[in-house]
Amino acid sequence: MSLAWQDYTEAQFQEVMDFAQEYMDFLSKGKTERRFLKLAIEKAEAAGYRNIEEIIKNKETLHPQDKVYMNQMNKSIALMHIGNEPLEQGMNILGAHIDSPRLDLKQHPLYEEGDLAFFDTHYYGGVKKYQWVTIPLAIYGVVVLKSGKVIDIEIGDKEDDPVFVISDLLIHLASKQMEKKATTVITGESLNVTVGSIPLKGEKTQAVKANILALLKDKYGFEEEDFISAELEVVPAGKARSCGLDSSLILGYGHDDKVCAYTSLQAMLEAKDLERTAVCLLVDKEEVGSQGATGMQSKFFENFVAEVLYAMGEGQDIQCKRAMLHSAMLSSDVCAAHDPNYADVSSPNDNMPKFGYGLAFNKYTGARGKSGCNDANAEYIAQLRAVMDQENVHWQTGELGKVDAGGGGTIAYILANYGMRVIDCGVPLHNMHAPHEIASKADVYEAYKGYKAFIKNMK
Ligand SMILES: [Zn+2]
Repeated sequence: MSLAWQDYTEAQFQEVMDFAQEYMDFLSKGKTERRFLKLAIEKAEAAGYRNIEEIIKNKETLHPQDKVYMNQMNKSIALMHIGNEPLEQGMNILGAHIDSPRLDLKQHPLYEEGDLAFFDTHYYGGVKKYQWVTIPLAIYGVVVLKSGKVIDIEIGDKEDDPVFVISDLLIHLASKQMEKKATTVITGESLNVTVGSIPLKGEKTQAVKANILALLKDKYGFEEEDFISAELEVVPAGKARSCGLDSSLILGYGHDDKVCAYTSLQAMLEAKDLERTAVCLLVDKEEVGSQGATGMQSKFFENFVAEVLYAMGEGQDIQCKRAMLHSAMLSSDVCAAHDPNYADVSSPNDNMPKFGYGLAFNKYTGARGKSGCNDANAEYIAQLRAVMDQENVHWQTGELGKVDAGGGGTIAYILANYGMRVIDCGVPLHNMHAPHEIASKADVYEAYKGYKAFIKNMK
């Protein structure tokens, strides 16, 4: 295991930087699961993927080297590139999640207080709430009218767009606030986004709110009650940027887990002439436990595999079961990189991922004695070592910090329920779940290389 930067030729170095730029552009445009999915489908269709719905409707037959995808409610997607081998011999599956911690608008979000209008929010995923005040914010999502019409909302990232903000108490009056614990200094219920201060002319009460409603009607075409069937997400405004004097790092919102999702997707779309079937799963709801119809616990992927088998003329239940059982999966999610500023929570003795050493494999995650972890089989890890080394991928191993310092989970255990081989792996980050997270460009590139090696060579 060596520092990837040391091994790059000049041409490789340029490739790493170029790949990172493409990723940053994608990340800046795909900040929410819906946006990411939309961009992913555009890319997939350009690469020859077709919607399985179309295949079903036209009663078409599928063949080896055909490429199909299933769009699950515009928030999760499964892509499959059918290999020459029978599907029941298993698939090579790349999985990652495309939801990220954020603030969601409540169903009755808009209110006025002290001649200011606000959006009331409920945070999504694990956040340090104090990190979300005083930074520029954008709002993305959909408002769905009773007619079924979908209004797309994207405010805060275009040059001329206004941004939003959550206020914090000025230091001059904060003597009491500064005594509080970090968990309570900003409470979840106080994460209210400031959205306006101009009153509607002539209106006597709630005039600022009335003005915002008039603006929403005028500019976006919806009324207050339409918020009830909306999904609007508040995320940090601004683009992902190169970070450091040497531009070796990326500072951006949503690396968790769009960095693994993007690299998996790229590896998937570039695959050619596959012997073994490849799958890329990009799923929603990981940050809140993977439940719901668009989370990994939903059966949509299994149903997709059954549909593909059926379209290949092999629709027996046992074939689907075998296809799942014989599969191998990289459950990719970001992990914690060693941070010298917080070295006391790192796992010692080369057991902590570090920036620049490449794709990190986590045999297990979990907390308090590995509780809730997937714990990949040694036999599978041995296969992975061979597959990665064959393609000169920089990779490392690591734990989620020091024993008993904390912990966390991923989607690995859900696919492991089918009896398939699964391991956690991903790109190491600093300040995971903060409004802006940090990743190393070398690790982003090596993850992409690792996923390509896995699709090509895993048996
Ligand atoms: Zn994650």
